[in-house]
Amino acid sequence: MTPGALIQKARKLIQKRYEHGGHHAVVAAAVLTKSGKVYTALNVGTYQPSISTCAEIIAIGMAHAAEPGMEIEMLAAVRDANGYVIAPCGKCREYIADYGPDARVIIPADNKQGYAVMPIAELLPHKYVKRT
Ligand SMILES: [Zn+2]
Repeated sequence: MTPGALIQKARKLIQKRYEHGGHHAVVAAAVLTKSGKVYTALNVGTYQPSISTCAEIIAIGMAHAAEPGMEIEMLAAVRDANGYVIAPCGKCREYIADYGPDARVIIPADNKQGYAVMPIAELLPHKYVKRT
């Protein structure tokens, strides 16, 4: 699957479900796993914004539930009704790196297509690793 096709999967969801307000849905994410399956999800808002959960994490959770041992191949996230590409936050980068050490992440870019694809290792250098 191309990065553009994965972006379109996320965009299709946010354009259908975009909602601003208390339980807003403003971000959609699409996760492609190494098996070739795609999982899409929305952020889950609460009336307390500081405890809302990112769409990327929910999409990763859906993939994790459906495919034991799954690994992320590529991830895209888009925002607002027009579905512009956004970069994952720091917390999401930790999840992506844990569930896809060599995952590719789509980020916004000032080029013709409006996005670039970067390895998660470049988006999260010196990742946290638990020492045993
Ligand atoms: Zn996030």
